[in-house]
Amino acid sequence: DPAVVETDALIIGAGPVGLFQAFQLGLLEISCHIVDALPRAGGQCVELYGDKPIYDIPGTPRTTGQGLVESLLEQIAPFKPTFHYDEQVATLARQPDGRLLMGTSRGTTFLAKTVFIAAGVGAFVPRRMTVEGIARFEGSKLFYHPEALEQFAGRTVVVHGGDDAALETALALAGQAKQVTLLHRRDAFNADDALVARFRKAVSAGDIRLAIGQPTGFDGTRVQVATPDAQTVDLSVDALIACLGISPRLGPIADWGLELERKQVPVDTERFETRERGVFAVGDVNTYPGKKKLIVCGFHEATLAAWAATTVVFPGQSIPLQYTTTSTRLHTLLGVG
Ligand code: FAD
Repeated sequence: DPAVVETDALIIGAGPVGLFQAFQLGLLEISCHIVDALPRAGGQCVELYGDKPIYDIPGTPRTTGQGLVESLLEQIAPFKPTFHYDEQVATLARQPDGRLLMGTSRGTTFLAKTVFIAAGVGAFVPRRMTVEGIARFEGSKLFYHPEALEQFAGRTVVVHGGDDAALETALALAGQAKQVTLLHRRDAFNADDALVARFRKAVSAGDIRLAIGQPTGFDGTRVQVATPDAQTVDLSVDALIACLGISPRLGPIADWGLELERKQVPVDTERFETRERGVFAVGDVNTYPGKKKLIVCGFHEATLAAWAATTVVFPGQSIPLQYTTTSTRLHTLLGVG
């Protein structure tokens, strides 16, 4: 079946640990695909502290969340892992031949000899609006935290939310869209002071309209809003953009029969394997006695999990330990020397 992607290894999660997993697999000549629910690599490092300094990465006295992820992407580039962004791995099932079949939210199917769950605290997904029947407009009239705003040029849009992302989106669209309204439940914002000041200025100048209230209905062309003084008003729109925050959801991983302990996947500390053979769990998602949720610990876990995977991918072969400093074989793989 051409629609099925066959691979030695599938990594679920492109956070720091998932990325380093690809490096360790690459050194052992195990090819991989990496899936993330987000549109980019980096996990918590990029989503939660991209610009903040980090001081406890071995050999790197100081970098940032974003800087670390860029270094990891550069480090794994020689192994050419295939990235699949904006896709959440939804299902995992054992096949009769022992391989693992996984399906994503976008309908991609993977058939892998080994799986590395590097899902951290879960898939970062936008919080959805709770208005009844609204899900059917997703992608056509309703957009959550859209990356590309050009599609809204010349349109009448309502941006729903009151945080940095909502205000930034409204400001970015002012002048580009035909009309921009920011809809928020109250006239106060949970955002950076300078950003709020810029936003207020744009409202005073008439570049952005401000509507206060709760959305109670959406039919694809009108947003129904309940105002604080108990009125109902309709806002006409071409598109509704919701920026209600992005929060991690462990989601489907809880349904894969891995006997979670407090939302974490138990593993052994020799192979970092779950109760399912060939299914490993590394980084923040796993648990074992003494577990610490630190990047350096995840890197060690990924290293031993990759070695453990050789027993599944290359059964019966004994793989010698080689140093990247001296092994010509590894130099060839890394494309150096
Ligand atoms: P994550 O970074 O959480 O990445 C997991 C990825 O998996 C996410 O991108 C998610 O979208 C994706 N995913 C999950 N489920 C699915 C699915 N079903 N399908 C597709 N994709 C999925 N650690 C340190 O060592 N030093 C520090 O100084 C430090 N500072 C921190 C500061 C803050 C504010 C925070 C919040 C954390 C900090 N940490 C620090 C912890 C560190 O960020 C985590 O240990 C690390 O990010 C874990 O990496 P990970 O790859 O396991 O998971």
